[in-house]
Amino acid sequence: MRRGNFKVRLLIGVAIVAFAFIRRCSQQETNPYTGRTQAISLSPEQEIAIGLQSAPGMTQQHGGLHPNNQYQALVDQVGNKLVNNSIAKNTPYKYDFHLLADDKIINAFALPGGQCFITYALFSKLENQDQLAGVLGHEIGHVLGKHSNERITDSKFWQTMIMGAGAIDMGVIAQQYGQGKLLANGRDDELESDELGIFFMIKAGYNPEEMIGVMQILKNAAGPNRQPEFQSTHPDPENRIDKIKEAINKYREAS
Ligand SMILES: [Zn+2]
Repeated sequence: MRRGNFKVRLLIGVAIVAFAFIRRCSQQETNPYTGRTQAISLSPEQEIAIGLQSAPGMTQQHGGLHPNNQYQALVDQVGNKLVNNSIAKNTPYKYDFHLLADDKIINAFALPGGQCFITYALFSKLENQDQLAGVLGHEIGHVLGKHSNERITDSKFWQTMIMGAGAIDMGVIAQQYGQGKLLANGRDDELESDELGIFFMIKAGYNPEEMIGVMQILKNAAGPNRQPEFQSTHPDPENRIDKIKEAINKYREAS
């Protein structure tokens, strides 16, 4: 009786896992802006809609928009200069750059479809416009790289895989493996965004070396013991600096 039961569960489990893989294959697309093949499940229109829907909530979580119009105008100016001088201009995305009032959490992030944010806590630590361009260029990189789209698609894939593996009592293993995968992919997103950010900075006439200054600011903000929010989702600034130097050499030679 138990053996028969196991066979049925095994068949169901294998069928679910096979379904997850077949669906994933059909979702593979080459990103027209990065040239990288990725599994995505949302159209640009859906990405834009999700970003616009989520933006007010994200803004609220960070104390609303910063009241200083001059600071906001500077953020707009630098962000738009990056977009207008790069491939970002040729995408269907609608870019908006928001300065958040939050003066405690050093952070910047992007929602799918083009909504980009920087907290005042980070903005106030930046030493020049080139560094601001570095932060915003990195966020535009997340949008072009379709990173949210890819993560949403990945997590759906792992949910189905865990369900399939659960039928054959391997659910916990699949869950742990999936979580590790998602974290590792998150770090790759950061490195790709750094590289794209450098590319946009050079195209728009900003000094890409200042991106290293941004990394120093993030490192100092972390202090010896404290981990800021930016770093829990972003790789170690030291590793990033090495990759940033590589990207500067690569794109300087090309331009
Ligand atoms: Zn990032």
